[in-house]
Amino acid sequence: MNNQGIIDIGANLTHPQLYNQLKTIIEHINNSKTEKVIITASNLMDTALAKEIISLYPDLFYTTVGYHPHNAKDYDSSLYDKIINESNSKYVVAIGECGLDYYREYSSKEEQWTCFEAHLEIAKITKLPIFLHEREAHNDFIQFLKKYSESIKKKVVHCFTGNKSELKTYLDLGAYIGITGWISDPERGKHLLDLMKYIPEDRLMIETDAPYLIPKNIPGNKKDINEPSYLEYVAETIAQCLNKNLSDIMISTRKNTRIFFSI
Ligand SMILES: [Zn+2]
Repeated sequence: MNNQGIIDIGANLTHPQLYNQLKTIIEHINNSKTEKVIITASNLMDTALAKEIISLYPDLFYTTVGYHPHNAKDYDSSLYDKIINESNSKYVVAIGECGLDYYREYSSKEEQWTCFEAHLEIAKITKLPIFLHEREAHNDFIQFLKKYSESIKKKVVHCFTGNKSELKTYLDLGAYIGITGWISDPERGKHLLDLMKYIPEDRLMIETDAPYLIPKNIPGNKKDINEPSYLEYVAETIAQCLNKNLSDIMISTRKNTRIFFSI
C-alpha cells in the first residue's frame, strides 16, 4: 500500500469495464503511485455499489452521491432526502457528480437544471464539497454557480477542458480544478498545457476519470481502458509542462485533495 502517493479524485469504478476486473484494478493500484481513489457516482445505484467495494477495501476508496447530468431524467424530488441520507456515510465525501452537459444532452436541459439545482441545495445544506461536471454548457452553468458562490465553499470542476476565460471564471468563483489525461492528448489537450500556469498550485487536483481518457503518455501502451493506477501519467504531464518535479506535483495535489475532501 502506497501511503504518500497521489489521490485520484474521480474514477468510475462501478463502470462494468472496471468493476468486472476489480481485483486486477486494485492490484494495479497497489503497485502504482496512486494511494487513494474517490469512486465517482452518477446515480444512487453507483453509490450503493461503491459502498460495497469500500466495505471490502476501506483503506483505498471513498465515493460520492448524486445524479450526473446524463441521468438527470431519472432524478425526481423523492430522491432528495435519499441523497442527503447517503451523504451522511463517512465514506461519501462529495455531492455529485452533477452539473450540466449540453454536448450529449441525454437528459433535457430542463431536467438538468432541476437536478443540478437540487444538488447545489444539498451541497449547501450538508456542507459537503460538490463534484461538478460541465460540458458545452458554460454560461448556464456559471449562473447556477454564482447563485451558490458564497453558500458552497468547496467546489471542483472535474475534467476541466475549457478555455482561458472559462478557467478564470471558475477560479474567480473559488472553484478547484480537476485535470485528467485529456491534457496528455497531443491534439485535444494541447491548449490545456498553456493554461496550467494560470491554475494556482493550491487549487489543482488530478483524476483519471477511468475507464475513460487514458493518458497518451504511457510508454508502450496499446490499451484503451483507463485505470486509477495510471494517475501518475496525468501528474507527469502537468509536471513537465510546468517545468516542475513530479514529486512536487504529487505532494501539492495530494495535499489539496486531503484538505478539500477532508480525507
Ligand atoms: Zn464528468
